[in-house]
Amino acid sequence: MLIIMKSGSTREDVDRVRDVIRGLGFDSRPLPVAERLAVGVVGYDEAPHPDLFEALPGVDLVLPVNHAARRVGRQARDGDTVVRVGDVEIGAGTLTLVAGPCAVENEDQLMSVARLAREAGADLLRGGAYKPRTSPYDFQGLGEDGLQLLAQAGRETGLPVVTEAVDEASLALVEEYGDVIQIGARNMQNFELLKRAGKSRRPILLKRGMAAGLEDLLMCAEYVLDAGNPDVILCERGIRTFSDHSRFTLDLAIVPVLERLTHLPVFVDPSHASGRRGSVGPLARAAVAAGADGVMIEVHPDPVAALCDGPQSLRPEEFAALAANLRELAAVVSRVRETVS
Ligand code: PEP
Ligand code: MN
Repeated sequence: MLIIMKSGSTREDVDRVRDVIRGLGFDSRPLPVAERLAVGVVGYDEAPHPDLFEALPGVDLVLPVNHAARRVGRQARDGDTVVRVGDVEIGAGTLTLVAGPCAVENEDQLMSVARLAREAGADLLRGGAYKPRTSPYDFQGLGEDGLQLLAQAGRETGLPVVTEAVDEASLALVEEYGDVIQIGARNMQNFELLKRAGKSRRPILLKRGMAAGLEDLLMCAEYVLDAGNPDVILCERGIRTFSDHSRFTLDLAIVPVLERLTHLPVFVDPSHASGRRGSVGPLARAAVAAGADGVMIEVHPDPVAALCDGPQSLRPEEFAALAANLRELAAVVSRVRETVS
């Protein structure tokens, strides 16, 4: 646990915090975090309640992490990180909609979804050219040919493209053809890939691993920022639980926690979380209500014929109706937030 002090906090404020920690029977270590003082609490099995510290004079923020979230934590900067891609501003208060097929299959498929996504008001086009599939016998993606089609779709529609890199070689190509580099759930903790992503000038969409906790996710983002790339978008996409009614369990509870702890924008992917078309709309609405900065949705012109993730893909007209609905909802939710804060 890390207790971040306000910039104007005094020596006495820090000593008071350390006294409380000592009174609880734990050790503490003062450490500088992004030009501010912080106090690390060490030697506990169960973390003390944040309320014990949050009310003390000079305390800004209590982070429930063991490692210093030096760059991703809210203490690292004032305000939110806004990721700019073309004309799109991610994390600036308006809802970002990302839509497109799971995988790029051919020119007709991609171009038709891209046009319809743009007409429906999507901000970014998604589509995988490198697909990390459970089975080696499943469609693995079109590789560089798929990236070329994505670049063409991006040019024709004006939509910036989000596409996944699965290793350092594909990252170099995604960097060339795409606008936002996705690091998928299965690669979230591929630390060498994260370091390479940190050298890129393209924003990174970092999806939460299906067995990753809050600190795991934040620390992976920390790798990217630490290597020099400040533009990271986090994405909740469902975690493994014992539930067997949906593909994964969408952990919406992480959205407000991330909002409190980090300045980075947060997206939600209800398509991979649920695996079911019928659940995508309700979960997308719930994500917007929970405060997500963006929602990523799979769309396919003919889901039955899709080479990947057909059962969770919306038809273009279904996406159009949902997109309009989410925009209306986002406006209402942001008004509610203004009145409560
Ligand atoms: C995807 O978005 O195409 C994808 C494979 O998602 P995830 O990494 O979350 O499974
Ligand atoms: Mn998919």
